[in-house]
Amino acid sequence: MFKTMAINAGSSSLKWKLYKMPEESVLASGMVDRIGLPESLFSVTDGDGETVKKTADIADHDQAVQLLLKQLIEQQIIKDFKEITGVGHRVAAGGESFSDSVVVTDEVLAEIEKLAELAPLHNPANAMGIRAFKNLLPDIVSVAVFDTSFHQTMNKVQYLYSIPYAFYEKHHVRKYGYHGTSHKYVSQRAAEMLDRPLEELKIISCHLGNGASVCAVDGGKSVDTSMGFTPLAGLTMGTRAGDIDVSLLPFLMEKEGITAISDMIEILNRDSGLKGVSGLSSDMRDLHAKEADDPQAALALRIFEDRVKKYIGAYAALMNGVDAIVFTAGIGENDIQTREHIINGLSYLNAFIDPERNDCRGVEKLISSEHSDVSILLIPTDEEVMIARDVERLK
Ligand code: ADP
Repeated sequence: MFKTMAINAGSSSLKWKLYKMPEESVLASGMVDRIGLPESLFSVTDGDGETVKKTADIADHDQAVQLLLKQLIEQQIIKDFKEITGVGHRVAAGGESFSDSVVVTDEVLAEIEKLAELAPLHNPANAMGIRAFKNLLPDIVSVAVFDTSFHQTMNKVQYLYSIPYAFYEKHHVRKYGYHGTSHKYVSQRAAEMLDRPLEELKIISCHLGNGASVCAVDGGKSVDTSMGFTPLAGLTMGTRAGDIDVSLLPFLMEKEGITAISDMIEILNRDSGLKGVSGLSSDMRDLHAKEADDPQAALALRIFEDRVKKYIGAYAALMNGVDAIVFTAGIGENDIQTREHIINGLSYLNAFIDPERNDCRGVEKLISSEHSDVSILLIPTDEEVMIARDVERLK
């Protein structure tokens, strides 16, 4: 029996799942939050759903992993560290260096750290997680699974920006896309649910969470996606602006007396999107609660729906058709009204949602009506199982 861990390390958090492979059954899961802050939170949920929660001062990722491994033994989820045969790590940016997951060597780790210039918030934290496990379990295979690698099948026509070509040659500036593991998982599941070969399907995958992106998947390969060089581009998101005219930047900096470009980017990353338009919240549930009386909340919701609809139209055009539209992530899986509003008005594609089938949350389900030419699917994403599968494939 193989036990494989899937790790998602942030700068102050570490989420994990322990799988029994190849069965893909979850033996335990948990998280460490507030790493480096007083009273870090620590939780482990075992296979029976029993959760142990603790608070402790956890100074860094090494300590977090130490505590986690100790707790696995204490709760008898494992008897010996040797039972863990591989650890897979989610890594945000793989640039042009990684078009697939890889076993982490010293060179790979150095490259992940170098690619921090593409994902300054994420890659350094991901690398810290990798190092922490390597320090404590030096003999166990580590695999890096990149959010970008699924999109490395995009061709130049899609991934190049229309700027001097030398910038691409010199600095690799191009569209990379993110959420690749999620788009890959849901497109594979869509083919299985429809009982059709993935190679024959044109799928538009809508990963709608706090961070959100749409991906055109033709024959199982990503051909275009809405995020860009960084995850700031594309859809209106919880706090991110999505696509804007970049000339706004110098204009606003002058008008608002903002002197540093980094402050301006911070506004686009943290104070924009649903939060910026509504002036209320980045959370869809808050906006729905106020929608009836607060025009700004309603406006933010309409902008969100509209941007998704426009990307669906663009990707149906790019692929010359669409067989399935998939909804996933927090909003995609739970927001009944938003799904309905996005699909309503796609009658030119003969895509119709069935309101009764759509009246559900967090389950795998076909939600299109009988007479829809396009299958509309709700598929809860599972990035962790994809990480565990890649560990098994590569170890
Ligand atoms: P991320 O992983 O990118 O942080 P999630 O995938 O968890 O984000 O999605 C968070 C979003 O999902 C929030 O906008 C939240 O309001 C929305 N969401 C979660 N549950 C519901 C629900 N029941 N109805 C509507 N929106 C929901």
